[in-house]
Amino acid sequence: MRLLPHPDLVWREDGTPEAPAFGDIYFTSGDGLAESRAVFFAGCGLPEAWVARRTFTVAETGFGTGLNFLGLWQMWRAHRPSPGAVLHFVSFEAFPLKHADAARALAAYPELAPLIEKLLAGWPEPVRGTRQTVWPEEGITLTLHLGDIAETLPGAKFSADAWFLDGFSPARNPDMWTPALFQHIAAHSAPGARAATFTVSGAVRRGLEAAGFAAEKKSGHGRKRERLEAHLPGDPPPQSQRPHVAILGAGIAGATAARALMDLGARVTVFDPAPLSGASANPLALVMPRLDAGDTVDARLMIDAYLAAQDFCRGRPGVIETDVIHRPRDDAEAKRFAKLRADPPLPDTRLSFTGAGLVHHRALMIRPGVLIPALFEGAEMRSVALAPDLDARTIGGDAFDAIVLANGMSLQSALPSLTLTPRLGQVDFIETQNHFAPAAIASGPYALRDGATQFWGATFEALMTQTPETSDTARAANRAALETLAPGWAASIVENKIQSRASVRATTQDRLPLIGALPSNTPPPDETVPGVYVSGGHGSRGFTFAPFAARLIAADILGAPRPTGTDLAAAASPMRFVHRARKKAL
Ligand code: SAM
Repeated sequence: MRLLPHPDLVWREDGTPEAPAFGDIYFTSGDGLAESRAVFFAGCGLPEAWVARRTFTVAETGFGTGLNFLGLWQMWRAHRPSPGAVLHFVSFEAFPLKHADAARALAAYPELAPLIEKLLAGWPEPVRGTRQTVWPEEGITLTLHLGDIAETLPGAKFSADAWFLDGFSPARNPDMWTPALFQHIAAHSAPGARAATFTVSGAVRRGLEAAGFAAEKKSGHGRKRERLEAHLPGDPPPQSQRPHVAILGAGIAGATAARALMDLGARVTVFDPAPLSGASANPLALVMPRLDAGDTVDARLMIDAYLAAQDFCRGRPGVIETDVIHRPRDDAEAKRFAKLRADPPLPDTRLSFTGAGLVHHRALMIRPGVLIPALFEGAEMRSVALAPDLDARTIGGDAFDAIVLANGMSLQSALPSLTLTPRLGQVDFIETQNHFAPAAIASGPYALRDGATQFWGATFEALMTQTPETSDTARAANRAALETLAPGWAASIVENKIQSRASVRATTQDRLPLIGALPSNTPPPDETVPGVYVSGGHGSRGFTFAPFAARLIAADILGAPRPTGTDLAAAASPMRFVHRARKKAL
């Protein structure tokens, strides 16, 4: 099964949720929050441990209802060490609760109501992978790794200052509390990290000690007589200053990178001689997933990226929710849809199947001209063409802590060893007197409607000229595609009202994006250029990939928890082409 199972809950009379599969409860009846505070927060020395810290990372085994997270958020609000400080919370969950069950369980804590509302607005669906949500105004991030922790923790990237060891009791959930788990916990901990748990089981204590923690029994809380506190030797590493990051390119890749970096506290300067000129200046754009029939790393990457775009875009200006009807373009695609139907990778709230094909529920249409400027709020914008010195990390004599290359085909000059292919994408549109409800149909080509705009395309042609130019041939091809896709829409179009835009899509050989550290041009080949990152090669899926790329790069620059697993990050890394070339040469 590609989807994760929801737990079947039983509700005790006092409203406490219980998981019969484990014979254990999610939190102590009526007193869950007090227990979180006494066992986990006090057990990890919070809030004192984060005093004077610019960032602090807490990790947890077993997200459950999110009560520990919400209780800690409440404590962060009261004791945030400085206005710019950021608390990262990383948690793991194999059996995510249904939205309605989480809402019901958390209703027992009215003092948390405003925070519950924020959490429930993006409550994770039972889809394997990593979901990250950022509340910049609160200085809080939540990174949830969904799947068995034995599989997800080894590939997660973060360094915790504190660990809440929750998860049902070791006697009832021995598969989770393995010796290997404690080794991975230690490997994901900063020097001096603390851990706390409600259990004093000998196996847990031995596991922690074998992994390098010093553990100590303490007097317990409520029903439990004792609890455990543990810590690693050493002191937390010194914290770096707020980084100043340059971004080359003011399209959707640059705009999302700027926002993600500023949300984590970076200062950002954006360089683009002609902002909002490429495909990011089209009147509409579509965010929808590419769903592969097999459950591969690449398939999971697309899904993590799609759900990251959903989370990133939620509530922003210029973002329109719409169902997308996805018709199979040929028999092969119809077969792929049948496989997806037999084992769907997204829940029925996101994906359903009709005779006509797939329906992507609550996919997004974007008005780039509204969204992109809003994302840049707070960044310094410079409309100049300056060539960066990547090794020195300077641009026009100014030094930066990091540089992000989000400049489409211009990326090629920094990456001569990688072949980016320019493809020309022409779109056509009309502004009408109508007021269309949002609607979208796709089948390779796509057609969108929103407000006065009717929009269709796009071509994906070899680029024959230096700069992209619109053509009547492309217009005729788009028109023919629209007639097949949505004959009713095509019939209403007045030919001489059509406007066209042509722009370049920088495309990779494997159609996956380039996200991550820039490979160095000098040997040894597996070195990257320190502090230089790439968000590119997005092809015709820029709006779907860019938010994911932005959060991944921002996390790596700021040393924050990564919003995806190591295997998915490797599948998107520009280094993959260096590795492939090396393998070929052997
Ligand atoms: N911290 C939670 C809260 O604040 O509501 C309560 C956690 S509950 C006691 C234990 C959680 O661990 C459950 O949600 C369960 O599904 C999860 N869990 C159990 N085994 C797991 C595993 N192998 N991998 C990931 N999560 C697991």
